[in-house]
Amino acid sequence: MDNDIAFFKGDSFPIEMHKVRIVQKLTLIPVEERLKAARAAGFNTFLLKNSDVFLDMLTDSGVNAMSDRQLAAMMTADDSYAGSMSFDRLKSAATNIFNKQYVLPVHQGRAAENILAEAFVKAGNIIPMNYHFTTTKAHIGLRGGKVLELYNKSAIQLQSEEMFKGNIDIARLENVLKAEAGNIPFVRIEAGTNLIGGQPWSLCNLREAGKVCRAAKIPLVLDASLLADNLYFIKTRELAEKDRTIADIIKDISKEADIIYFSARKLGCARGGLILTDDPRVNEIFMGLVPLYEGFLTYGGMSVREIEAIAVGLEETLDFDMIRHGPEFINFMVGELVKRGVPVVTPAGGLGCHLDAKKFIPHVPPEEFIAGSLGAAVFIAGGIRGMERGTLSEERNPDGSEHICDVEMLRLALPRRVFTMSQIKYTVDRLEWLYANRDIVGGLKWVYEPKMLRFFNGRLDSVSDWPEKLAQKFRKDFGESL
Ligand SMILES: *Cc1c(COP(=O)(O)O)cnc(C)c1O
Repeated sequence: MDNDIAFFKGDSFPIEMHKVRIVQKLTLIPVEERLKAARAAGFNTFLLKNSDVFLDMLTDSGVNAMSDRQLAAMMTADDSYAGSMSFDRLKSAATNIFNKQYVLPVHQGRAAENILAEAFVKAGNIIPMNYHFTTTKAHIGLRGGKVLELYNKSAIQLQSEEMFKGNIDIARLENVLKAEAGNIPFVRIEAGTNLIGGQPWSLCNLREAGKVCRAAKIPLVLDASLLADNLYFIKTRELAEKDRTIADIIKDISKEADIIYFSARKLGCARGGLILTDDPRVNEIFMGLVPLYEGFLTYGGMSVREIEAIAVGLEETLDFDMIRHGPEFINFMVGELVKRGVPVVTPAGGLGCHLDAKKFIPHVPPEEFIAGSLGAAVFIAGGIRGMERGTLSEERNPDGSEHICDVEMLRLALPRRVFTMSQIKYTVDRLEWLYANRDIVGGLKWVYEPKMLRFFNGRLDSVSDWPEKLAQKFRKDFGESL
């Protein structure tokens, strides 16, 4: 579903249902300097300087635009270590929306994962889920637990007609809960499944998963970080839900989950995180851990200003105009790229547009980091910063060999309400140019490889002088222009 505004002539396109009232100046540096900046960053987009970046599509984390109402709320924050009224406001907003009694603060999403893993994961445990997220897997792995992904085939088919690629395979879930009874502390379901391209599950699938978990008496944990996008897709793709309000859909989602946690860097458009439950025993366990790792129970590592902003941000998530913006602009961008033959993940998901790197540059071997190479090339081509989601983002196998990923994607995130239509059109243009010149793009090799979460700080070099050749071709095709 696109917006409800009809057009007199031409194709329909999505419209921003907000106006820009605070701006940040951007600069686009010449291609030779983009090349230099890419080299200086070890061809790792995480290590680029923001001043060298034109369009920052690295992530949606902590960089969504805030509303006027959020900014206003930050001015009235109640600064106190204990008993802050700001936390009361956040707690009441969260309770109203999710209908859960206990609300605990954490400084961001992975902090909730740390507490969850510390509380429940023992060595040898198995944690079934629809798909893993990097920080989730790392925290479970740290305690000797193992992630078991129960996705359907379509989840990793980059081009598909499946509208709910994030669905968990119910039959396999049922079998695993039986076969591994006693060894499963919880089942985790992630909304707007990040690493497969921001892909949703249906409410129907969640209900079935909830039923199976209840029958097996195993708690269901919902990672709601990307819930806003998933809500949009439930309302627009799931026929039975199309006339219901977002508020009602959230309550039904919440009913299925024993524990909900999320990164408020995404959901709520500020910076922080929350854990919610109705179970007093679980709450008690978490209450012991939050002050240890995060801070007192009425701030949990967040500033009170952010706490106020999250309270308002959560309420704004109930506004369909707010949550539709991201998915509709992503859908537009994906559609334009498909028209031009540029390989992307379909159907369009939330979070961002995902390029299918293996199809984009099929001549680059997996050991030379296909998606990472594409990320470097996209920056050189347009000053656009994406994030590698492929082999580089994985840890090595226990025997030291590279863990080659089935899926190699370059994610171009569209933080919510940040980019305008013209910036998306520019990105499409640069990607079309790069695709026409894809033969020039080559691979990367390690120069410095950290042991943990290597994609954040690792440095690479190009296997040849392909980045220079790409910059020269750009100069030839675009003349003196940027
Ligand atoms: C971002 C994210 C997290 C981690 O949240 P942070 O606030 O970045 O620590 C966890 N799960 C999902 C699905 C995410 O997208």
